[in-house]
Amino acid sequence: MNLQDSVASLKGVGKKRLPLLEKLHIETIEDLLRFFPRRYEDRRQAVPIMTAPIGKEVLIIGTVMSKQMVGSPYNRRRLLKVQIEDNTGSLELLFFNGKFLESYFKAGEKMTFFGKITLNNGRRQMAHPEFHKLGDAKDVRGLLPVYPLTEGLTQANLRAWQQQARGAIGQITEWLPLELVETHHLCSPAYAIEQIHFPQEERPVLESRYRLIFEELLILQTGLFYMKHGASDVKKGVRFAKEADVEPFLSSFPFQLTAGQARCWHEIERDLESARPMNRLIQGDVGSGKTILAFLIMAKFAHEGYQTAIMAPTEVLARQHYETFQEWIAMFELDFPVILLTGSLTAKEKREAYARMETEQNAMIIGTHALIQEKALYQKLALVVTDEQHRFGVRQRETLADKSSRLPHVLVMSATPIPRTLAIILYGDLDISVVDELPAERLPVKNCVVGPKMREKSWNFILDEVQKGHQAYIICPLVEANEELELQDVTSYVKKLEQYYGDRISVGLLHGKMRPAEKNKVMEAFVTGEIQVLVSTTVVEVGVNVPNATVMMIEDAQRFGLAQLHQLRGRVGRGNAQSYCILMNSSNGKNAKERLNILAGSNDGFYIASEDLKMRGPGDFFGVRQSGLMEFKIADVFSDADMLSIASEEAKEYVVKCNLNDCEKDMRLETTLKNAYKMTEYNTNI
Ligand code: ADP
Ligand code: MG
Repeated sequence: MNLQDSVASLKGVGKKRLPLLEKLHIETIEDLLRFFPRRYEDRRQAVPIMTAPIGKEVLIIGTVMSKQMVGSPYNRRRLLKVQIEDNTGSLELLFFNGKFLESYFKAGEKMTFFGKITLNNGRRQMAHPEFHKLGDAKDVRGLLPVYPLTEGLTQANLRAWQQQARGAIGQITEWLPLELVETHHLCSPAYAIEQIHFPQEERPVLESRYRLIFEELLILQTGLFYMKHGASDVKKGVRFAKEADVEPFLSSFPFQLTAGQARCWHEIERDLESARPMNRLIQGDVGSGKTILAFLIMAKFAHEGYQTAIMAPTEVLARQHYETFQEWIAMFELDFPVILLTGSLTAKEKREAYARMETEQNAMIIGTHALIQEKALYQKLALVVTDEQHRFGVRQRETLADKSSRLPHVLVMSATPIPRTLAIILYGDLDISVVDELPAERLPVKNCVVGPKMREKSWNFILDEVQKGHQAYIICPLVEANEELELQDVTSYVKKLEQYYGDRISVGLLHGKMRPAEKNKVMEAFVTGEIQVLVSTTVVEVGVNVPNATVMMIEDAQRFGLAQLHQLRGRVGRGNAQSYCILMNSSNGKNAKERLNILAGSNDGFYIASEDLKMRGPGDFFGVRQSGLMEFKIADVFSDADMLSIASEEAKEYVVKCNLNDCEKDMRLETTLKNAYKMTEYNTNI
């Protein structure tokens, strides 16, 4: 087997599973070997029931004592309880909806169980453990890797494929410069990959992780560094006359800029006066008012006769910006063309947009990824803005900038609360402005964490708000019902709500699987108030601005990350009325409650991010924490922050050493760059 062979050659990878692997960016054997486990299950040894740690995954060997179906025989979701024992104590196993499992358990039989033990009134319980007959072929012992999977694939699939690919590991050779390997005491890549998939002990896993994290961060940093400094600098910045002034329209605003916005605006103005093109990141919590800043600067450029473009991560958001911009243009009695370019336009509309982009030299162009497609050609593009930058790859931002025949000004807007030190590394030489306050008349959102028993009460509360003329969002994690996951889905939820409210409220449905045109229609109906309660998946998470909405209710809130919940909550509290966020917690876990309470206790995105970090800790040995900030294969920008700065330094030297001008000839650097591009392309979270 060769590293470059397709994974299609593996046993068990057929027509059905190949696309699933592609979804995980696994095409070759090497891709597979470089697909790393997120954590390990320690199944090396069974632990006694009485001394097993509570709340951690453990392996138990016990004898089945008794079993019992609980609940009415007419209820399909009846609970199966199985009592087991070892010579230290007894444990109760719970299987919800467990009728079909009943026949697997026979009194007197010795079995193995893997799961988390919880304490319930002093009784030890384990819900839905994995179980096998003792000595069964599937009763595998050892440190078992757990891979981040996609639907349709199982851990067993991945483990089996890694075994098949194992023979090719020897072909992986060192590609880092020897000095780097020595200075940082890195193990060889072949050893690292062997250990990461097939570990016997903990220490080698740590060594391997160290090597692989270093490698990954170095690749990223080299790529970023090269993109910034290696790109041609023939392009010249567009210079601006200093007197070009937006003060006249600032004074006719319905609101005053906040002090934070004003400071940011001055920083932008200073950038424009300097000889260097602007390269600025505006960081501001949700609702801090970043859009208006983008508008102001784009208007300033339009006034000078230059084109500008703003790229948003979703159709919904692009359309909303388009409408807002048109409103503002009318309000300030300006006369600049505004062009919308998104994937859902008809072919004819697209052609029209392209034609206008080529002729209207002072247009403000608003769009999605469609802005960076080949057919999109610009005239005098002098400024590019990316909104909600964390949703884009670095590469996409660069591509938009490359659309200009000169070196354009770049403005990046993000609500992701990244600590400054990290931002400097991740965004390289972007200057950073922070919009650190919300508009003054905003009332802080009132939060509560409740259980499903309060669902009806919450619906009544929403009814009250709607009758006062407001609107509400209800978020569910799933699009459609899923047998295995006991979570709310938008499709059945809408039906339940419609039944409950009758014709007192108009309910709308929105999710990512709908066609863009459909999504737009729903969003527009919500904006105009035609839809009063919008039941949606997290597609409304970024950017959406409907100030009349005052309630955000999130079902199965414990399933979402804190940062994501904060973004969702940011959809309300955007107007002058009091807003509310109802976090519906459907789990009994202590941890879930604690996490949600952090969110309920504060509306400050930076604080929430840091608390979240503290709670999850730097990640213990077996668990690799997911910051949700960047989709690394193995590294984590928070817990590996120190290594990130080392890698950043090394990357700079590395690029210089390989000699920038010759770098295309240098094989090693070329490989690095290829990897870096690949990484930044699918890394939608930078
Ligand atoms: P975000 O920073 O999350 O992108 P937006 O730009 O969407 O926030 O702004 C949120 C809301 O606040 C919008 O309705 C916007 O019109 C309003 N807004 C922005 N700046 C101010 C201000 N200085 N005073 C009052 N309202 C403002
Ligand atoms: Mg925004």
